[in-house]
Amino acid sequence: MKKHISLIITTVLMSILSVGCSQKQPNVLIIYTDDIGYGDIGAYGAEMIATPHIDQLAKEGLRFTDAHCAASTCSPSRYALLTGEMGFRKNVGIQPVNAAATIAKEQYTLGDLFQEAGYQTGIIGKWHLGLGDGQADWNRIISPSPADMGFNYSFVIPSSNDRSPFVYLENGAVYNYDPADPITVSMHPISNSVPGTKYPDAINNPEAVTVYTGDKDHQNTVINGVARIGYMKGGKAAVWDDNNIAFDLLEKANAFLDKHHKKPFFLMLTTNDIHAPRLPHPRFRGSTKLGYRGDNVVQLDWFVGEVTQKLKDLGLEKNTMVIFSSDNGPVYMDGGYQDASDKNLAQGHQAAGIYRGGKYCIYEGGNRVPFIVKWPGKVKPGVSNALFTQTDMMASFASFLNIDMPETASPDGRNYWDTMTGKDLKGAEMIFQQVNTDAALSIRRGNLKYIHYKRWDDQMYDLGKDPSEKHNIIAEHPELAKEMKEELMSLREGTVNGVK
Ligand code: CA
Repeated sequence: MKKHISLIITTVLMSILSVGCSQKQPNVLIIYTDDIGYGDIGAYGAEMIATPHIDQLAKEGLRFTDAHCAASTCSPSRYALLTGEMGFRKNVGIQPVNAAATIAKEQYTLGDLFQEAGYQTGIIGKWHLGLGDGQADWNRIISPSPADMGFNYSFVIPSSNDRSPFVYLENGAVYNYDPADPITVSMHPISNSVPGTKYPDAINNPEAVTVYTGDKDHQNTVINGVARIGYMKGGKAAVWDDNNIAFDLLEKANAFLDKHHKKPFFLMLTTNDIHAPRLPHPRFRGSTKLGYRGDNVVQLDWFVGEVTQKLKDLGLEKNTMVIFSSDNGPVYMDGGYQDASDKNLAQGHQAAGIYRGGKYCIYEGGNRVPFIVKWPGKVKPGVSNALFTQTDMMASFASFLNIDMPETASPDGRNYWDTMTGKDLKGAEMIFQQVNTDAALSIRRGNLKYIHYKRWDDQMYDLGKDPSEKHNIIAEHPELAKEMKEELMSLREGTVNGVK
């Protein structure tokens, strides 16, 4: 009998151990949206836009109320997320047409980190971090591309949906490329003698602009009836249809998940929703009273629902950490595109919630963004008021995955894994933010916020009493202001991790 019992115990113990051993590392999926503000999501207070799928993520996960992207524009926030370095240190602002790669081949990235930990890595969606050497030949495989920056698979909008080129790049090569219609991309008008399909431009062919015209910067090539930044010739078969971008990205995301679901994967879904020009698929048009801007948020929510359903269908829900966030705060009308979003605020939609400013600003509206972490059984659902910045994600994942990053990696990133996963609800003592450049920088220490402008007077706010940054207290606390300024200046000259 004793022998029998001990056999049972041994069997039970062995099965527990084998479960422990066979449980693979979690998958990580980051849904990184474009220009989604704090107040654009139902779980964050939006009342005029229904976002049931994102709200469900928030309900099943940890919803942060004080999490921030590094910058208040696309490129530097994406750069900080992927490298743990503030973009202004390398002059990474919004990237122009034909910009060279902002991340060097040898630079250590979040993708490299996951690859080192044995993950299959992918990025599907907007890139906007430069490609090649600045004179990319779009008829060949471009390098450096995400393939050289830690991503086994990439399917990207090279820069942004408002600028040339208007094609996807899959693993460094133009998707649906036709050698008979060679592609030329330029910031300047392209000569008629250059081969390839010629597209109208907004100045000479105003009749071609049937959907949107833009501001003076968005008056070049007209694609799908919309005037945009920069020029392109050729590649007609490869030009994307704006109405279908979310569907195209979903198709590629599903294919990636089908292919890689048996081994750990790290996938970034950098949707271009809701960046201007906003052209949601017809099925989402009219789904809000806020015009295409609101309808585009509904499209994004649908996309999130489809991706989360796919994880369920593949049995991946339990072992996948899903993070939902944004690259900068909201903007109503952008690029001069008349999508009626300039009326949204008067209609009652506060895209930044109670916070001041939005995209391009140093105020909270510019970089306090939705941040949701769902990881069933590991991250307790709820709300975290912890202070957190996306710049710290890389070092946090390095700690979790037990990877020793190179010494030069993540100069501004620190390990806040316990904050990300809700074990610590206090968060960072200090976070450091920028606008598109270092024209405005800020630091937060708890609720105290100090803003340094290159061209204007500095400001200081107590977000505890004044979350909307209405009352500048810098003159009332000269000693404190001096201390905060000194700290900010030392972060500007050195790095957050103290390396000069
Ligand atoms: Ca953006």
